[in-house]
Amino acid sequence: MGAEPDWDAVTAAVKAALGPLPRLQPGDELSRQRLIENLAACRQGRLWQADLGLTELPPYPFACECGRSGCDLTWSATPDQYDVRSTGRVVADGHS
Ligand SMILES: [Zn+2]
Repeated sequence: MGAEPDWDAVTAAVKAALGPLPRLQPGDELSRQRLIENLAACRQGRLWQADLGLTELPPYPFACECGRSGCDLTWSATPDQYDVRSTGRVVADGHS
């Protein structure tokens, strides 16, 4: 895998591995789950970076952590940028 992963294929592989999941309650529960997923993405990205010896990672579409049901907004950033911004909830631009 090069520096430009096929995120659609990665998403499909993760969904296939996890199978059907229960619906989370909007609000803190859903927000907390998005946070866990974003932290896992940071970890996986850094492992991938170390494995390939990349000097920097390409941006990743982090999930919005607003906790609203149905929100599919993302925030494109590197794990380092996510860490800086994640002192609170990461809420994607584009919310009204
Ligand atoms: Zn949102």
